[in-house]
Amino acid sequence: MKPKRQIYLDPVSRLVAHSVLLPNECWHWLGSVNNAGRPRVALRVKGKARWVYVTQYVLRHIHGETLRRTHRGLHSCDNAMCVNPDHIRRGTQGQNVRDCVARGRHVSGFQVPAGYYAGKYLPSLEG
Ligand SMILES: [Zn+2]
Repeated sequence: MKPKRQIYLDPVSRLVAHSVLLPNECWHWLGSVNNAGRPRVALRVKGKARWVYVTQYVLRHIHGETLRRTHRGLHSCDNAMCVNPDHIRRGTQGQNVRDCVARGRHVSGFQVPAGYYAGKYLPSLEG
């Protein structure tokens, strides 16, 4: 028997249904992720199923933001697996990189795995 398609009351319920609350109030995502390990959700857009980053889903459907191509969802908690709407805000990739460097989240020197340079393990800059 085919499983029933899950119907969610609202976007927040959808996130809560697929995450666990951590002591620091991050909502750790247990749902689907893309190849780079980023949380994603399936949306129906013009009759077609589309994967979108949870961060973008939060900005559009919970914060009601209008997003441009240059916009990214930035985490105030630095936890890429967090989907708590209170921890996600709209920003640009430039801000993301500055945040990242300021908080020591960037990789440099010996921490960079060899595969990075082959492009194979390069993390997505989305979300
Ligand atoms: Zn968080």
